[in-house]
Amino acid sequence: MEHSENVLIIGSGVAGMEASLMLSKAGKKVTLVEKLSLIGGKTIKNEETYPNMDCSTCLVAPIQQEILQDGNITVLTSSQVTAVSGDAGDFSVKINKKAGYVDLVACLGCGMCYPVCPVEQINEWEENLINMKAIYVPCAGALPNVPVIDADKCLHLNGTDKECNKCVEACMFGAINLVGEDEQLDIDVGAILIATGYDMMDISILTDLGYGKYPGVYTAMEFERLFAANGPTEGNLVMRDGKTVPSSVAIIHCVGRSESHYCSSVCCMASSKHAHFLRHKLKDAKIYNIYSDICLPDKTYQKFYEDVKAHSSQFIYQSDRDKMKITEKNGKLKIEYLDSKEKSAFLDVDMVILANALKPAIGSDELGKVLGINHDKFGFVEAQPFNIGTVVTSKSGVFVAGCAEGPKDIQSSIIQSEAAVAEIMSLLNS
Ligand SMILES: Cc1cc2nc3c(=O)[nH]c(=O)nc-3n(C[C@H](O)[C@H](O)[C@H](O)COP(=O)(O)OP(=O)(O)OC[C@H]3O[C@@H](n4cnc5c(N)ncnc54)[C@H](O)[C@@H]3O)c2cc1C
Ligand code: SF4
Ligand code: SF4
Repeated sequence: MEHSENVLIIGSGVAGMEASLMLSKAGKKVTLVEKLSLIGGKTIKNEETYPNMDCSTCLVAPIQQEILQDGNITVLTSSQVTAVSGDAGDFSVKINKKAGYVDLVACLGCGMCYPVCPVEQINEWEENLINMKAIYVPCAGALPNVPVIDADKCLHLNGTDKECNKCVEACMFGAINLVGEDEQLDIDVGAILIATGYDMMDISILTDLGYGKYPGVYTAMEFERLFAANGPTEGNLVMRDGKTVPSSVAIIHCVGRSESHYCSSVCCMASSKHAHFLRHKLKDAKIYNIYSDICLPDKTYQKFYEDVKAHSSQFIYQSDRDKMKITEKNGKLKIEYLDSKEKSAFLDVDMVILANALKPAIGSDELGKVLGINHDKFGFVEAQPFNIGTVVTSKSGVFVAGCAEGPKDIQSSIIQSEAAVAEIMSLLNS
């Protein structure tokens, strides 16, 4: 059969990166498409990762560097797949690469262009905890370390102030050009891997929990960024006012589980990790984990959880998460929950961390239509259950790995990605 040996990978989290490197080592040409301006996925939002509390940056940065330098891998950031036609072994793919207005080769990543930009906008990558400019990299240490310009927010590009040229003047390397257009790219590939990961459930809809209303209530990912050395507070554990250090913190498990109708599988471990972080930074703080179920899918995880229970946090059972209510009085949060005897119990704390459910990545539906694949009833990519590693989708030649298939930890995402590579190799070498 005449077919292309090349592979398209959509999404550059741990699943997409692992598959890219493995396929490259096997001599395949890979196009890695990432919708954001940086690669690495959610793992680069973590300061440390369970179960061994490895430094995330130390784990991921060498892989990011290797990908960016690999001659077999073409990395397309700020890009989206817009059309796919053909069949297994012979797909034609259209990709839209957004104009970034900064030359990847000329830019040295010195950062001189940010401070001069008069625009302030919320930094969504930093979970809205800080602002950024219209020209930005989402976080310190982003790779590639090259800024992009948000054309909707830039005064020059959106027409509010055609005279604004400040970033161009600040760049000593002539890397910025305010004239630019999206690029339309056409590639041919033999196989496609979906590795688009997950996004977090919007918990402002759970109004009883006070997220978005009380400043002391945080999501799990907000807390990850609060703890990160390259995050908005440079790792200082302070509340939204920038100075108050919490002396009591409650971490609530299973937030959004009833609404999602599945267990997100990583939240219990992430919540145990958060208790561990808190104890490490706040020696005398009162720390509570309020749970209804505990999901620990591995024996190493069991040990981590037991250690956290013994040394870091008091684990409190609540009989029904859906009955929990959080209110605020004089800056103190009051949590009302049902205890093991289904009686109302109360806890006063400074800070609440809500371990919210993992959802399919935003835009999964549209991408599914472009690829012609099925989703399961929860919106994740449907994989054939009896296939190795459940990586085969409803369309021949299109595979899935990592959280795009359903919530899972880094280790399982990588294992699934390796299973997908095995399937891709067997298809391309047949
Ligand atoms: C609060 C929290 C803490 C966690 N801590 C740990 C931990 O300590 N240890 C651990 O093992 N696991 C942890 N996890 C789980 C871990 O985040 C996941 O296992 C891991 O990120 C999965 O990687 P992935 O590549 O599947 O997806 P992601 O990391 O989500 O990467 C997907 C990538 O695809 C991109 N993308 C999405 N849609 C498109 C599109 N249409 N086109 C192009 N690109 C697209 C995204 O921008 C992203 O870069 C945690 C999870 C949470 C919620
Ligand atoms: S665009 Fe220019 S000023 Fe901005 S980071 Fe790159 S080299 Fe520095
Ligand atoms: S042209 Fe002006 S508004 Fe636009 S990114 Fe540069 S400094 Fe900011």
